[in-house]
Amino acid sequence: MIPDEGTVERRPGSALLIRELLHRVRTWAPDGTITYRDRLTLSYREWLQRVDRLGGWLRELGVEPGDRVGVLDYDSHRYLELFFAVPMSGAAVHTVNVRLTPDQMGYTIAHAGDTVLFVHVDFLPLLKAMAGHLTGVRHVIVLTEGAWEAPLGLTCAGEYEEGLAKAEAVKEWPDLAEDSMATLFYTTGTTGEPKGVSFSHRQIVLHTLTAGLTLAVHDDPVGFRADDVYLPLTPMFHVHAWGLPYLATMLGATQVYPGKYEPQMLLQLLTKHRVTFSHCVPTLLQMLLHHPASGTVDWRRLKLIIGGAALLPALVREAQSHGIRIAGGYGMSETCPIIAVAHIKPSMAGGTDEERADLASRTGFALPLVQTAVVDGEGRPMELGKVGELVLRAPWLTSGYLGDAGSSDRLWRGGWLHTGDGAYVDTDGYLRITDRLKDVIKIGGEWISSLEIESALARHPAVREVAVIGVPDAKWDEHPRAEVVLREGMGEVTPRELSRHLHAVIESGVIHKRALLTEVVLVSAIPKTSVGKVDKKRMRANHAAASA
Ligand code: AMP
Repeated sequence: MIPDEGTVERRPGSALLIRELLHRVRTWAPDGTITYRDRLTLSYREWLQRVDRLGGWLRELGVEPGDRVGVLDYDSHRYLELFFAVPMSGAAVHTVNVRLTPDQMGYTIAHAGDTVLFVHVDFLPLLKAMAGHLTGVRHVIVLTEGAWEAPLGLTCAGEYEEGLAKAEAVKEWPDLAEDSMATLFYTTGTTGEPKGVSFSHRQIVLHTLTAGLTLAVHDDPVGFRADDVYLPLTPMFHVHAWGLPYLATMLGATQVYPGKYEPQMLLQLLTKHRVTFSHCVPTLLQMLLHHPASGTVDWRRLKLIIGGAALLPALVREAQSHGIRIAGGYGMSETCPIIAVAHIKPSMAGGTDEERADLASRTGFALPLVQTAVVDGEGRPMELGKVGELVLRAPWLTSGYLGDAGSSDRLWRGGWLHTGDGAYVDTDGYLRITDRLKDVIKIGGEWISSLEIESALARHPAVREVAVIGVPDAKWDEHPRAEVVLREGMGEVTPRELSRHLHAVIESGVIHKRALLTEVVLVSAIPKTSVGKVDKKRMRANHAAASA
């Protein structure tokens, strides 16, 4: 007889809890290492003991299941300890975006209901600026490698290392419900206050296992294995550094945490620790490759997943020319985040660098367990190859925004998570993101993808960075405006020459003819968001202000 659900007893250890990610590493890699910057290296054995002690300390601080604990730190071994110990205690770790304004940051801390804050000494002045929001915070713990002073009039529970040293280690982590909230962070949309996005233990575990499986069974062009050396280059406050620290820890991979993102230090760590696997947004890769010290790095051992924004073939080729193995990935805050990776099908392997660059820059194939559909404005499926909105279902998509039923319903209308991204599936089966729906440029009733124009302009050898927005046009509703940063040392290149290059690409039939209306301007920098992506919202606002 098959027992029905009501009569099956859930045995200890059967729930999908973050705790369970740590069992294997205890025997597989106790002597493996976790390094912080150029300051400290811990063995996994030591690091696991610190996690257990942190759990004991959280209990002493009165942290209980259901609580929220905020963290304001750079990427560090401590952050990784908090990634595990806080959820394993039954509380949710709120990874505070330290690049928001103090007022926004304070808003997120108050909205989350954080009762304890772990704060790097560099961010203590920010606490002062947001004091009005911190009335619910009972304890502030200072993370530092040097001297510090107690902030404000808050009860300060001391410094992290001192507290850990005194704490009694947890012997038995609690059995929790797998649906209990494990992580929480805030995403800044186009309008309104930041929105809280959370994930449960079950979601983090399933995301970790599925991303791990996908990257283990496919390695063309990029995989991730237990013998890799891992360094995150997307901040831990942003979608838990794409969840990859959970995977790296489960695998017992050698890990290096860079602290504050300083290009010189990042390049030094890549070299010193012979880093083999990382991930970042395109702008960060560009910044590293163009840094004066880039030549000191042997890039050939590096495998990189690029996500968070479109990966243009021109950047793939540039990375390939350094010997980097690179693939695009797709996801968003609400999706934990990994949804797709641009692996190359065995039947399509080989090919020229140019062909491989094209494949690696496609958005990719959805991970196992992810259901994708491309729909029109009424939620009806589009024909294969036609652009519509990408909608998703998967076990690890956020169930909604914290305390915001209206936005959650809009996100999940019709039973699918609406990404707000335009997409289609190409004839090879690759999912292709064409543009954020709100970035699509509407020229006289035609919808033109800003990414296609960016991609075409990026093929000009003098173009270092390019971003395209739609700006108001009396005749056409909108026309594209391309802002271009030139490479240094490429001689005099004019907007007119770039336009000619763009027109040649358009005439070859790849892009809609209306893109001929593109206005090209040279700029010294392109505005970036708090996570280093091109900030088109600000570009549009700057343009509107300048036009007014
Ligand atoms: P965020 O929630 O800040 O991580 O931003 C997620 C958004 O980044 C997505 O909704 C997409 O618009 C964009 N994005 C992420 N990955 C890609 C990709 N591979 N290609 C194009 N856009 C992407």
